[in-house]
Order: sequence, then C-alpha cells, then structure tokens
Amino acid sequence: MSAMKLLILPGDGIGPEVMAEVRKVIDWLGANKGLAFEVEEDLVGGASYDAHGTPLTDEAMAKAQAVDAVLLGAVGGPKWEKLDFSVKPERGLLRLRKEMDLYANLRPAQCFDALADFSSLKKEVVSGLDIMIVRELTSGVYFGEPRGIVEEGNERVGINTHRYTESEIARVARSAFELARKRGNRVCSMEKHNVMEAGILWHDVVEEVHKAEYSDVELSHMLADAGAMQLVRWPKQFDVIVTDNLFGDILSDCAAMLTGSLGMLPSASLGAPMENGRPKALYEPVHGTAPDIAGQGKANPIACILSFAMALRYSFDLGAEADALEKAVEAVLAKGIRTADLGAAEGSTPASTSEMGDAIIAELAG
Ligand code: NAD
Repeated sequence: MSAMKLLILPGDGIGPEVMAEVRKVIDWLGANKGLAFEVEEDLVGGASYDAHGTPLTDEAMAKAQAVDAVLLGAVGGPKWEKLDFSVKPERGLLRLRKEMDLYANLRPAQCFDALADFSSLKKEVVSGLDIMIVRELTSGVYFGEPRGIVEEGNERVGINTHRYTESEIARVARSAFELARKRGNRVCSMEKHNVMEAGILWHDVVEEVHKAEYSDVELSHMLADAGAMQLVRWPKQFDVIVTDNLFGDILSDCAAMLTGSLGMLPSASLGAPMENGRPKALYEPVHGTAPDIAGQGKANPIACILSFAMALRYSFDLGAEADALEKAVEAVLAKGIRTADLGAAEGSTPASTSEMGDAIIAELAG
C-alpha cells in the first residue's frame, strides 16, 4: 500500500481537544496494527488568523491538496465574529471545500443502541439505524446564476437559480453508487421531477449512470418531500440516499437528529479521484467549536473519532479497521461511559474528553 498521508487541521474551540483524541487512535493504529500514517498538522480558522492574518495560508492549502485526507476539527467562535467577511474563520473551511472541489458530502445517520433513547423518535424506529445521505455540495440553487434581489415595478424580487449540469449529477451519483457497494448496495435518489425540470434531468442522469456502470446496485427514486416523510416514519428502509444541494441540506439535518446528539455526528466531503485512485477528501465532525464548553475537557470526541473511521473506510479502504473503531465506540457507550452531552447515569461523573478517548483505545486493544 502506498504511504497514507494525513493533514490534521484542529481549528478553534473544542477542535484541538477532540482532535487530540483522534491523534491517540492514529498513534495506536501505528503502534499496534502496523498502519503508519504520515501526519502533518497546520492551522485553520481563527487560530490561523491569529498567527498569520488569514484563516488558511497558501502553504496549508497546498498541504491539503497534497495529502490523501484532511481531518478538520471545527472553526469559528466569538473572538473572530466581528472580523471582515473575507477573513472570517469559516472562509478557511470554504476555501478548502472549493479548491479541493469536494462535491459529495457524506452524512451518516447511525444510531447506537445504547443511545436510542436520545432520539426524539421511538426506540424501535431508530435502534440499529445506519443510513448515509450523499448531498451534492458544489452546485444547485446555492450557486446558480442569476441570483440577487432586484426591483421589479414597485416591489423587490428575490432570485436564485436551481441549475445542474449532467456531469455534476453524474459524478455525485457515482459517489453514491460506489458507497452503496461498500454498504448495503442500495441507493435511493431524491428530487422533485414532478415540478422541476432540473429534477427530471437529475432522475434521468442517475438512471443512465446506473444502467451503464452500476446495474449491480439496487436503485430506487423518491420525491424529496415524500423522502422527508419516510425518513421520519421508517428510516431503516434506506441505505444510501443521494440528493441535490438544497434537499440534501435539509434531509441530512433531519436524518442527523434521528440519532440524538451533535457530539456523535461525523461527516466526509469527497471529490474526484486523485492519481493514486484515492478521492480528494475532507473529514470533519458536524458540530462546531462549542465555545460554551471549550477548554474544559467536556467535549465529546466521538464525532471526530467517527469522522476518522470514515477516512479509514473511504480514503484508505481499511473497512475492517473502521468497523473495529466503530465497534469500540459502541462498546464504550454500551458500558455506560458517557461525556456530559450524552447524559451520564445518575450519581456518576461524566467522562472527560480524554477519558472517553482512552476508553475507546482500551476497547480497541481488547
Ligand atoms: P456548536 O456545534 O459549536 O454547539 C452547539 C451546542 O452543542 C453547544 O451547546 C455545544 O456545547 C454542544 N456541542 C457541540 N459539539 C459538542 C461536542 N463534541 N461535545 C459536547 N457538546 C457539544 O454550534 P454553535 O454554538 O452554533 O456554534 C459555535 C461556533 O462554531 C460558531 O462560531 C459557529 O460558526 C462555529 N461552527 C463551526 C462549524 C464547523 O467548523 N464546521 C460548524 C458549526 C458551527
């Protein structure tokens, strides 16, 4: 196997705290499983602004382009809120996504049995849930032209354009089919072809890609509004859902909450394959920098650790190691070890960030 290169960008707030626990996992895999990752670290967000006056330096950007996978903590916080838009911490993250052309955003919704009570849905609806939403991330109505607010007669009109090219649809469809092959081998594509021409094209292109390249994967289609209903009614019917930027934004947030806690949610953003066959990739927890608990050792590192498990699976084809890491997380939760956000049992002290990381390593070590 060629060298496995990682760039770690811990960012701000709880970012460095949760990333320290990922470092423990990386070091453990190196020492015990012969998996030698080449790890570099750099600054992003407010931390980079403080050191260099920019939320991402050209050097850090170049490093991100050169590695197999970028692991990011989170960026932002009250300290940088008043900065000019062009140097706000979020611009660092947006630059990474844009210049790496990360067009497929993967948001798994996985419900560990031990946490099924955290969901707002009934336990039997979410227990054992394991679905993946693939959202197109770089096109659609958030980017389409023309856009703006214009005067028309005596009133203002807000305009956004929902626009997709065949190639944009085809490449994200391929990402979804490839993923399905590594999971339950089923894809459900969601759009609104009943009322949108872009939906008709989406439907047809997904069909064409399926027929030509992925006929071994089971494909179904659902209108996005019906999909939202089905996600809440019986989410376990899905394996991989692929959808556009706007519907994906809403459906992935809806699916995320099936599982209960923000501190548990990983994500990946993937782009085109590089020369070595691995996709451009950025892995990050869904949560932000949690300024209310930063620096107190209270943050739950699981979302960040599960994001690294996604890197093992989708960047390095280390599915067995990813499974082992996810099982270790599940086992720790089943033992009742909880950070404060997961509600420790009455009378017990919540685990700190590093105690949670250590417990996961201990479980990995068996
Ligand atoms: P947040 O996700 O940081 O926090 C929301 C709530 O969830 C807080 O009460 C926080 O304590 C809790 N929480 C979040 N992650 C947790 C964890 N791992 N363990 C335990 N509790 C956790 O969202 P916010 O408060 O809206 O935003 C705070 C800052 O983070 C803002 O500056 C925002 O712009 C930024 N942000 C960054 C990203 C990113 O980097 N991708 C995403 C969202 C928000």
